[in-house]
Amino acid sequence: MNDFQSMYEKCGISKAVYDYGEKVLEKLSGRFAQFDTVTEYNQLKVINAMQEAKVSEACFMPSSGYGYNDLGRDTLEKVYAKVFNTEDALVRPQITCGTHALAIALASQLRPGDEMLSISGKPYDTLEEVIGIRESTGSLKEYGITYSQVDLKADGSFDFEGIKSAIKKNTKLVAIQRSKGYQTRPSLSVDSIGEAIKFVKSIDPSMIVMVDNCYGEFVEKYEPSDLGADMTVGSLIKNPGGGLAPIGGYIAGTRKCIEKCAYRLTSPGLGKEVGATLDINRSLLQGLFLAPTVVNAALKGAVFAANIYESLGFKVVPDSTESRHDIIQAVTLGSPEAVVAFCNGIQSAAPVDSHLTAEPWDMPGYDSQVIMAAGAFISGSSIELSADGPMKPPYAVYFQGGLTWYHCKLGILKSLEMLVREKIVDIYI
Ligand SMILES: *Cc1c(COP(=O)(O)O)cnc(C)c1O
Repeated sequence: MNDFQSMYEKCGISKAVYDYGEKVLEKLSGRFAQFDTVTEYNQLKVINAMQEAKVSEACFMPSSGYGYNDLGRDTLEKVYAKVFNTEDALVRPQITCGTHALAIALASQLRPGDEMLSISGKPYDTLEEVIGIRESTGSLKEYGITYSQVDLKADGSFDFEGIKSAIKKNTKLVAIQRSKGYQTRPSLSVDSIGEAIKFVKSIDPSMIVMVDNCYGEFVEKYEPSDLGADMTVGSLIKNPGGGLAPIGGYIAGTRKCIEKCAYRLTSPGLGKEVGATLDINRSLLQGLFLAPTVVNAALKGAVFAANIYESLGFKVVPDSTESRHDIIQAVTLGSPEAVVAFCNGIQSAAPVDSHLTAEPWDMPGYDSQVIMAAGAFISGSSIELSADGPMKPPYAVYFQGGLTWYHCKLGILKSLEMLVREKIVDIYI
């Protein structure tokens, strides 16, 4: 028995599962090398931005109270603006999560009588209440802002004709969601988003285009903001926080849009000038510094899982060879027992809470029970290795994240180990 095998055995991985994993890995060196190239580019992009913005030790000083002249905060925002190639950025711990960042971006630009148009179909679940598609207090709908939607075509591409006819006189903002989230459509490439932005601007150059960039950051060399998005929006407890950011969201965009976002986040008149960062600028900057390599790990994990489970006959989205535009991997396991076993494999591989058992529960806002596996340093962080699945047909799990590739590898092998032990899958070498 070699060293590795015995260490894996200590971690609960049998020889058969270890060997199966190694065999799948043999075919993946080309894919991994492609990811490494993108990561190298993005790492340089981030370092260059930090140098140009003159990140210094003084940026790590905590601020309190109003937070006037918070050097770390202002520098961090300069760094984000450079990384995303935008005029300005709003990057704050006061932005509580991705949904909040998106809500600020929308509410800051839209006024009563304006219409928002989603051109990538139904937006992420939590936005339904922000917009008012689902009745809720304080929605855009309550303020007289209307919503319409153009679905993606059956092949997952933009419906340009549909978009053209859906743009009306009062359409003020077009929204695009890069990641599929928990839907079955493919995620959108940055190139295709760029094409859609160009098309929308050719119809109305003053149209504001907002991209929900959650889970997409650093997966490709370019971001939607490089291709003309007015606002690119995401969460710091996903990709760009690099696993170190304890809270926060960002909006990178044009000076005009970001100014409005700042007035919406804090208060008219105050804007970006206030907002103490307490003691977290170091984590936000260091997290961004690590983010390209963390995304690299997550992508390797996603592709490894896709190849393992596809080879065992399960449907995986994206499939084993498809190009990647976000870090989410869906695996359709086909039975409730398999979903539970998979999630407990991920749970038992975690550095935190590995001794806990994940169980399905009635999560607010969902129409079936949901099981979630997460042993994270940052509560709810989905850039850390995590998996969740609604307990309903087709019994798919969605999993994402992983701060290091080796942790991803262990988590996926453990999920397989659980499925083998439960006699749900058989592995033939
Ligand atoms: C996670 C996510 C959101 C919302 O982010 P939260 O931080 O959970 O509020 C929005 N859109 C997409 C595509 C996401 O993946």
